[in-house]
This record gives sequence, structure tokens and C-alpha cells, in this order.
Amino acid sequence: MDIKELITKPSAQQRQALLNKEVSAVELTQAVYERVENTDEKIGAYNSLTKEYALETAKKVDEKIKNNEQLPPLAGIALALKDNINLKSYPTTASSKILENFISPYDATVTKKLKNNLIPIIGKANLDEFAMGSSNENSAFKLVHNPWNLNKVPGGSSGGSAAAVAAGEATVALGSDTGGSIRLPASYCGLVGLKPTYGRVSRYGLIAFASSLDQIGPITRTVEDAAMLLNVIAGPDEKDSTSLSATLPDFTKDLRNDLKGVKIGYIKELCSEGLSDDVAEAVKKSLEIYKSLGAEIVEISLPLIKYSIAVYYIVATAEASSNLARFDGVKYGYRAKNVNTLYDMYVKTRAEGFGEEVKRRIMLGTYALSSGYYDAYYKKAQQVRRLVKNDFDNAFKKVDVLLSPTCPHTAFDIGSKIEDPLSMYLTDIATITANLAGIPAMNVPFALDKNSMPIGIQLQADCLNETKLLNVGFKLEEAVQFDYSIPLKTLVK
Ligand code: GLN
Repeated sequence: MDIKELITKPSAQQRQALLNKEVSAVELTQAVYERVENTDEKIGAYNSLTKEYALETAKKVDEKIKNNEQLPPLAGIALALKDNINLKSYPTTASSKILENFISPYDATVTKKLKNNLIPIIGKANLDEFAMGSSNENSAFKLVHNPWNLNKVPGGSSGGSAAAVAAGEATVALGSDTGGSIRLPASYCGLVGLKPTYGRVSRYGLIAFASSLDQIGPITRTVEDAAMLLNVIAGPDEKDSTSLSATLPDFTKDLRNDLKGVKIGYIKELCSEGLSDDVAEAVKKSLEIYKSLGAEIVEISLPLIKYSIAVYYIVATAEASSNLARFDGVKYGYRAKNVNTLYDMYVKTRAEGFGEEVKRRIMLGTYALSSGYYDAYYKKAQQVRRLVKNDFDNAFKKVDVLLSPTCPHTAFDIGSKIEDPLSMYLTDIATITANLAGIPAMNVPFALDKNSMPIGIQLQADCLNETKLLNVGFKLEEAVQFDYSIPLKTLVK
């Protein structure tokens, strides 16, 4: 197979070619960079490239192959790393002016694991500033264009990670998900996106947005690749006290199990009102497919979903306002010039360094935490959050997996929602409850709408039950054979 085509395939095919010595890892990595050179001007997926590191890693892979040493499963497979995850000695900007010149002094735990597995990191992927957004239009540097239609958003906040994989500028990617930022871009770009259980993956070295919600996870072309990448990054970490010490299964082991007797609950509140016709049709079809695969379909009501956007945008902004206090011009990155006093320096640095959306969140969060309003907003939100979790606990007594669309509609036009934050926040209606409850959730690409844009189905499982989630996702993928490769062909002739 031509190397230009090979880099657009899932990892298993690339690995086979490496092991058969049809290509070297260095050639594979170079081919990816060639693709980046040809396409990224149109896409904007990368904030910066990490070529020296990637080629050094590829060389190590080739050494191992030459010496017939055992090769980790994703060794030599090109990865895009969201630019809010540290890679030592390279920039980490979170797509913010305030961190524009910041060089990471250390590796995130996930990055260390990528290194141990000899996975070449191609570059740092663009995102909404500090991962705040649903369209990647909040990057301080540049827009990301959806590879399926360059006039559409790729989704956010991990828009660069998803666009890189969809455009063939990486085979797999890591994103972070606080309220849907892995699943939404995966859905808009026709890819698999998995937010693991809260605590499954260490957050050490991820720039914090809302620490009780943030989780790192894979964006890939196939469910199997997502399971393999989760195998690499999951596990307890003494540097993150919220990481879980639960035993680690091999996440690929149950992928092919049949679905006889598996109970799938479609979420009434997310599957009825407010969906575009094409998305509603897709949900219906997905349920028919599951039925034909032997699963039992049940309706599940989660009535508190109607409060979840409000709860999320109080909890997430409150935590963000506290987390972002550290960017003050003293310890990191940008510092305002021509200031007279220390106070002046703080104020100017933050006024000039943060973008509009980040400032909006800091103000909302500070308000929600202020004495006098704390009980009415933050405390109330936390109480409702608990009730949301109770709803899920009850649901998972009845079913194994919950199903809904990932988003009520497909990718929208660049510029069409940016002036209206509330309508932007509403795109997260289906995704944020998984973060509030800490449960694993995944987007599986399903079909195209009438404008040929991808529609994604969201699956959610109980805490630590990623293997079931991946199994149910794999079976849907196998049944629908979604063609992720359409933009790969149209982008480069
Ligand atoms: N769109 C949501 C927000 O803007 C989720 C972001 C995320 O998951 N990082 O907060």
C-alpha cells in the first residue's frame, strides 16, 4: 500500500506494515509531516509541531524492529497531543495569549506513558482557549476548520485533535473532556471519542479547567484504536490524588463480545425533543440495529437533565475562576508591559492575556463563589449534581449502557453561534451530564446528515465500565461501517 494511504488507516494496518518491514517508522512519521505541510494551512489543527521529538521516537521504533525486540502496540503511530497537555521542553499554550511563550518544564503523566510506548507526538493540537468552548473558535491563535466542510466548525474544545485525525495529520489523538470536549469534536468530525471514568486517567500535567470534571481521553478512527490508546494512558498515579487505583482491564478484550441480553436504555429527554430530523432518524436506526444484534432496548428517563447545563456552567466556571487565578504574570507566561504597580501588573496582564470567553467564565465563576451568592449558586449546583449522579446510579441498575445522540445537531457554520454564548452552551446538552456524574461516555460515528456532515451516537456506561462501553460501541461500528475516510480523500487530491 502507498504510504500516503497507509497513514490514513487505523493503527492495526500501520503496525502490520511496520512489522512486515514494508515501511519504517521514520518514513511513516515523515509521511504524516508531509501531509501536515499540505493540509494544515486549510485546517489549522496544530498550534506547533514537535518534529524533533517525533522523529527521535520513530528512530527508536525502527531500532526495536531491526533488533526483533517486542514492540508496544501503538509504537510508531502518529499522535496529536492537545495543547493543554505538557510535553517537556516544548510549548504548551492552551491556545491562550497568556501562555504563548510558555515551555513545559515537565511531562504530563499521559505524555510519559506515550513516551514509554514509543508513540511519536506530531504536534500540539489547537483548542478553545483553556478548553472553554464547543467550536474551537475561542483559540487565541487561529480557527480550526472541519475537514468534512471547511466552512463548518470542528467542534470543541479538542477541535484541533479531532481535525488532525480526520484530515490525516495524525492517526490518533488525545483530547480533554470537561463537558464534552472529546465527544463533541469526535461527533462533528466523524470519529470515535472516549471520555473515560473520572480518575481513570491521571490529570497530572493537564492544564486545569474544572478539576472535578476534567478527564483526558482518546480521539481515533476506530473503537479498537480508542481501546488501545486507553490501555496506554489509564492507571493510577501518585501525582494525581483523584486518579483511581481500580484494577486495569485490557480494554480491548471484550470488544467483539456479542450483545445478546445486553440492556441498552435510550434517554427519553435526549432522544425526543429538539433534535434535527436527521439526528432523530439516526437515533431510531441505531436502536433498530442494536435490537437486531440481540440487545434489549428500554426507555430511561433522566428528568434532571434539564438542569444540567445550569449546574455545569456554575460548577465549571467556579472551578475555572479558582484554577486560572495562577495566571497572574508572575509565575507563567505573558506579563503586561508599562505598568506602575504590582496590582496594575496583575490587572493588565490578565486583561490583555485572557480572551473574551475565558474572562466571561472567570467573572461568572467568581460571582457564583462570592459570599452571599455561594449558597444560592455553587452549593445548590453541587446538590443538584449529586441528584444527577443518583439518577444515573438508578438507571444503571436497569440497563448496561445508555444511548442518545452526542449532539442534537451536526457541525454548524463558523461564526454562526459565536455572538450567542447561550446557544453555544446548549450544544453541550447531551454530553455534560457524564462529566457531572463522572461516568465514561463515548461518541461513535454513525451516519451523515443531508449536508453530508457526520452524526454521532453517544453511549454511556457506569463508572469503570469502559470495557462494556467499548464492546457496545464496537458492535455498532461493525454494523454501520461508517466511512471516516471521505475528507481524507477530498482534502488532498
Ligand atoms: N463546551 C464546554 C465548555 O465550554 C465543554 C468544554 C470541555 O469539555 N472542555 O465548557
